[in-house]
Amino acid sequence: MLSKNIIALTYDNDYIKFLQEIIKHEVLLDPARGITKMVIAGRINQLSEKQARVYKRYVYDRFKQQCDNCGVFIPWCDMFNAVASGNLCEKCFNNS
Ligand SMILES: [Zn+2]
Repeated sequence: MLSKNIIALTYDNDYIKFLQEIIKHEVLLDPARGITKMVIAGRINQLSEKQARVYKRYVYDRFKQQCDNCGVFIPWCDMFNAVASGNLCEKCFNNS
């Protein structure tokens, strides 16, 4: 089962908007993509054990609100840009 933290995060509108962006821009491959669509639709509690494991590993664990280079905190509203920039904050991306 997914932890309370993972489920609670899906009540964050900015996180859901971020998930919608990564779906729209085809960042994820199936089955993670289809499972993330279920999460966006508010169906996280309906995921099977296997789907929950895929979601945790390929979505929840993959996207952290952090720059891979300097470690600065990145809010969800800026995370799509960071992912598109190779998990870098704007400052590190501009300096790379
Ligand atoms: Zn950075």
